[in-house]
Amino acid sequence: MRVHGPGAGLAKVMVMLQKVEALPRKLLTRAELDAYDPRAESWQEQFSRRYQHHDELTGILNHLEDVDESVYDKFAMAITPYMAQLMDRDDPACPIRRQYLPSLHEEEKPGFATLLDELGEEGDTIPGTSVVHRYPRRVLFLVSNTCSVLCRFCTRKRMVARPSGAVHRDEIERSIDYIASNPEIDDVLLSGGDPLTFADDRLDYILGAIRERAPHVRFLRIGSRTVVQLPTRITPELCAILEKHRVQMINIHINHPKEMTPLLRERVKMIQKAGIMMGLQTVCLKGVNDDVAVLRELFMQAIEMGVRPYYVYSTDMVEGAHHFIVPYHRMLELYEGVRGWISGPAVPTFVVDGLGGLGKLPIIPTYVTEEPRADGAGTTVRCRNYKGMTVEMPGLGRDFSIPSHSNG
Ligand SMILES: *Cc1c(COP(=O)(O)O)cnc(C)c1O
Repeated sequence: MRVHGPGAGLAKVMVMLQKVEALPRKLLTRAELDAYDPRAESWQEQFSRRYQHHDELTGILNHLEDVDESVYDKFAMAITPYMAQLMDRDDPACPIRRQYLPSLHEEEKPGFATLLDELGEEGDTIPGTSVVHRYPRRVLFLVSNTCSVLCRFCTRKRMVARPSGAVHRDEIERSIDYIASNPEIDDVLLSGGDPLTFADDRLDYILGAIRERAPHVRFLRIGSRTVVQLPTRITPELCAILEKHRVQMINIHINHPKEMTPLLRERVKMIQKAGIMMGLQTVCLKGVNDDVAVLRELFMQAIEMGVRPYYVYSTDMVEGAHHFIVPYHRMLELYEGVRGWISGPAVPTFVVDGLGGLGKLPIIPTYVTEEPRADGAGTTVRCRNYKGMTVEMPGLGRDFSIPSHSNG
């Protein structure tokens, strides 16, 4: 039945009120949040309890920054109760608070250009699809434009900034068509937003369609921070879907050891039991993890739970994130503080994503050098180890006295 006339508006409001009533209440006091058990309700219920304005946290956190409302015009806030539980109640420098609460710094002008599409992804997007095809043989498939919790330094603010509904179904279909009709694509990386914000049946459909229509895809992986921000999203049903469609790798995104909770460990184990290898991605953030001890602990905790550190990213020059940027020279120092000092498998590749679509480029200190010899008769190769000891490597240099090639 359609309602017309002056009653129509009222009917709409009634329906809206009913919907609001059906949603679980937000937890507005410290006592309520402390008593909250994220395992006691569905992930969808917890999702609907997310804090979306810093005022909602005034009964929980002290020393909240007094940001202007306009901060939300540029980038929304969303924090699950589980993630709020990890925040220090009194310390504004808490690494969890810094990642997720809006800050006065976002309103500053940094003195260099910040962009919304800093990585030039739109230029490499196949028209009509949400597939970014930048590298040979592999594609980034942006299936969702929402996340469980929004990170203030998000590189995809352009699509995640406001809760704007899902990526259109037609766009998803055209994206799968593109992958299906390009047999050289052998690696598909699902990202977004966060693919795990989808309901099971939707994810089941997308993964199944890729496997069915693109049998040439050898490697299917997912990038997700939901595993970390809303661990109860990982259910036996979800893991069965991931296993059924042979998802081979899930990369999770953790920036600080405080995010490694018993609940997270438990759900990571569930994913691993489905035969899926797991990687860790970290964004190097000033005031969060630009510290050798923090990174060593983060990477060791990761390999303890069988998650292989994969990439550490330089913060992208995205709008409102300049205060998180760690300069290049410092990233080199951080790498040197890790390589050699902790288990080899715990050491990730540090990368910077080049402005405008250059792609990921490794940030690597020089441990091995080659220099011309003083007598001009070849070169000397010198090695430096993690402790700063150096040694010359005879035999590795070029020896100009031996002709490299002769035609007789
Ligand atoms: C990071 C990224 C990939 C995957 O790169 P790998 O180094 O293979 O993990 C693919 N496409 C785009 C556009 C990317 O940014």
